[in-house]
Amino acid sequence: KTRREVAREFFENSIRHGRLLHAYILLGPEGSGKVAFSLELAKMLLCESGCKPGAAACAVCKRIESGNHPDVWLITPTSASGRVLISDTREMRRQAYMARFSGRYRVFIVDRADRMSEAAQNQVLKVLEEPPPNTIILLLTAGLAGLLETVLSRCAVIRLGGMSPEAIRSEMGSRGDYTAGDIAWAARFSRGSYSRADRLLRAGAGEFNDLVAGAVLSDAADADMALADILRGFSASGENTQERRVLAAEGFGVTAILFRDALAVKLDINASNLYNVNASGDTGTVTPAGSVCRLSRLFTAEDILDLLLIIADMQRRVSQNLNIDLLCDCLAQEVFSRRMNVMP
Ligand SMILES: [Zn+2]
Repeated sequence: KTRREVAREFFENSIRHGRLLHAYILLGPEGSGKVAFSLELAKMLLCESGCKPGAAACAVCKRIESGNHPDVWLITPTSASGRVLISDTREMRRQAYMARFSGRYRVFIVDRADRMSEAAQNQVLKVLEEPPPNTIILLLTAGLAGLLETVLSRCAVIRLGGMSPEAIRSEMGSRGDYTAGDIAWAARFSRGSYSRADRLLRAGAGEFNDLVAGAVLSDAADADMALADILRGFSASGENTQERRVLAAEGFGVTAILFRDALAVKLDINASNLYNVNASGDTGTVTPAGSVCRLSRLFTAEDILDLLLIIADMQRRVSQNLNIDLLCDCLAQEVFSRRMNVMP
């Protein structure tokens, strides 16, 4: 069973036994269908015809699907800087205490809840402190870091997990410009996020991955500069600063996976848990890619752990206002200052 199926059953049981709470945080990678999951949940609460997923929907379910049900509110970031507007959460607070239309439940869904300002979160908090009856608030987010402690303490956190690589692959279908291998690679490296898979595919992340590995393994005297250039180059295709920051963070993410896999090889972890692998189509056996095996011999486990923390920190910083090129240069330096010169 996937985490998502477990979560669905949890909500079904909670509804059946009258044990629903007022507020839940649904945690899962961005672009992994959290809104769709929430709308399914809204249907469970509001449908009176017992509609089954995938089967024909009743009028109530159809209204929920099309975003036209008066008791189901979906709030998304709408400001130019990608934030949830305080006017939206203020309106949500006002609506929460007004009479419902259908009489059963009212569902508020806040997508990218971590993109609410403190003031916007405080509007939600007011509702959480005095919850109206039969009102469910779903806060959707990829991480808890942006949420106030006071909000967190009033919500149950449900981990939805990401989509499976198979689900992402079938959702992507076939794309003329890309091979099935490219698509499978992007689905695997997306870590459960459809939108990330799409982004990685379009940015040519598979090739980038090979270039990064090649640079780190290179014995050339200026390999550190080469790595910095490769890291810088990955975000260059972004059309604006925001896109470049997102791409830079993805590039750091792909780089982190290389080192993560190298660490897994060092620790003798089963290859089926790795991202960088060679799969033999005939026997179905999976072996670590040669690049991560060689990488694992060039760094100590301690240094790899250090690098993973450094990269995670850079991913955070790249979303703030730090200079992307500077971060890329720093990362290249951090990598090469730890690399051992001789293959032991
Ligand atoms: Zn229905």
